Amino acid sequence: MIKQSGTALFFLTLFSFSTAMAGELEQQAETLIDTALASSLSYEIVESLTTEVGPRLAGTEAEARARDWAVKSMTDLGFSNVHVEPFEMPGWERGQISVDVGAPYSQPLTASALGKSIGTPIGGFDAQVVRFKDFAELMAAPEGSITGKIAFIDGSMIRTQDGSGYGMAGPRRWVGAREAARRGAIAVLIRSVGTDYHRNPHTGGTVYAEDVPRIPAAALSNPDADQLARLLALKSDLTLHYTQTSRILGTVKSGNVVGEITGSEFPDEVVLLAAHLDSWDNGTGAIDDGAGVAIVTAAAKIIADFGTPKRTIRVVLFGAEEPGLFGAKAYVTAHRQDFDQIMMVTESDFGAGRVWRMDTGIAKTDEAKADRIQAVLARLGVTKGLRTASGGSDVSALSGAGAPAISLRQNGWDYFDLHHTPDDTLDKIDPADLAQNTAVYAAYGWMVANIEGGFHAPE
Ligand SMILES: [Zn+2]
Repeated sequence: MIKQSGTALFFLTLFSFSTAMAGELEQQAETLIDTALASSLSYEIVESLTTEVGPRLAGTEAEARARDWAVKSMTDLGFSNVHVEPFEMPGWERGQISVDVGAPYSQPLTASALGKSIGTPIGGFDAQVVRFKDFAELMAAPEGSITGKIAFIDGSMIRTQDGSGYGMAGPRRWVGAREAARRGAIAVLIRSVGTDYHRNPHTGGTVYAEDVPRIPAAALSNPDADQLARLLALKSDLTLHYTQTSRILGTVKSGNVVGEITGSEFPDEVVLLAAHLDSWDNGTGAIDDGAGVAIVTAAAKIIADFGTPKRTIRVVLFGAEEPGLFGAKAYVTAHRQDFDQIMMVTESDFGAGRVWRMDTGIAKTDEAKADRIQAVLARLGVTKGLRTASGGSDVSALSGAGAPAISLRQNGWDYFDLHHTPDDTLDKIDPADLAQNTAVYAAYGWMVANIEGGFHAPE
C-alpha cells in the first residue's frame, strides 16, 4: 500500500495542473480517484469474504453466511437501509465424480460435474464415448445418432481481453447436455470452458430442456480432454466408466443483500452498483465474484466518506447468479413498482483485472455526459467503448427491462484461466489492479450520482 500511496501522490501533483480548468464534478472525481488508489479497503473486503466465508454455493448454508457477512460488513461501514431481499430457487448438490477409462488404457480422468447436473444411476455406468471436435459438429449430428453413448464435446477457447472467447466456447457447457440428449446420448463430457492448462476442470451451470431427457454432465480439465482425444485416436470404441452423485434438490432459500448511500437531493433516483455474492464451490470465489463485491462496496464507502451524493447509490450484492441469475430475476419481480427509480445499473463481475473500456447503454442525448465521465477515467486507462452495454451479468435483467446501463469493462486476458476452478483464490488478486477498479467505480459512481439531468434508457 505504501507504493500505491506514492503513485497516488505523484498523480495528484501531475493532475493538479491538468484539472485546473476542469469542472467541479471532475475535480471531485479526481480526489476520489486519489483516495481510492491509496486505499486498501477493497482488498480487505475480498480477503474477509473469501477467508471467513470461503466458497458460497447458491442456496446453501454457506451462501446464507455470506449474506450475514455482507449485512454486517455494510452496517459496520455505515451504509443505510441495509437489508436482505429473500427469494427461493431450486437447490443443487455437487456430490462425487469419477471418470475412468476402460481397458486396455485404464486410468482416471479429472472432471467436475457441471452445475445443476443430475447424477448417474448409483454405481455409474459403462458406455462407449464418442468425440465431437466442437459444439458445431455435435449440432450437425442427426437425432438418434449417439443413442446409449457418452458424448465428448471437444473444442477450443480463444484467450481475449474482452472475454468474447467465452461467448464462442460457452455453448458446449450451457446447452451441450441438452443437445447431446437430443441425439440419444446418456451423458455428456465437455472440454472445460477455460484457457488454462492446469489439471483443473472448470465447472459452471448447464441448462436442460423440457422436451429431452436430462443427462449427467461434467467438464474434463483441458489436459484430460487432450488425453481423452489421444486415447480415442488409439481406440475409436473406447469406453468410460462414469459415476456422479450430484443431485437437484427441492426449493432452497437465497437472497440479495442491499445497502445504500442515501442521496441528498434526489434520494428516489438510484445509481445501482452490483456484484454477486454467491460463487461456485470449488474455489473461494475471489475473482468470481468476491472482487466485484469488494470493488462496489469499497467504492460506495469511499464516496460516502467524501460527501453525500445527490442521488442514492445502491449497492446490490445478488444471490444465486451462477446457477442462472435467480437473484437478478427476483429483484426485477420485487421492484416492478419502483423500477422507474433505477437511473443507472453497472455490475463488477469479471475478476480483478483493470478496467480499460467504458461501454454505454444509454440515450444518445446522454452520451455527452458519459464522455465527461470517461474523460476523468482516461487517467486510469479507460477508453471510450461500444454503445451496446448491458451493465453486467445480473443487471442485464434490469437493463433488459429498460434501465440505463454502463459497463466498465475489465481486462479478462487471464480471467478464464481461473474462472470456476479450484484456482479461484485470493492470491490471484493483484491489490494494485483491485484498487484501480475501486478508483474507477468511486469516480464513476460519484459522477453518475451528481451529474446534471441524470441518464435515460436508450431510445
Ligand atoms: Zn460471476
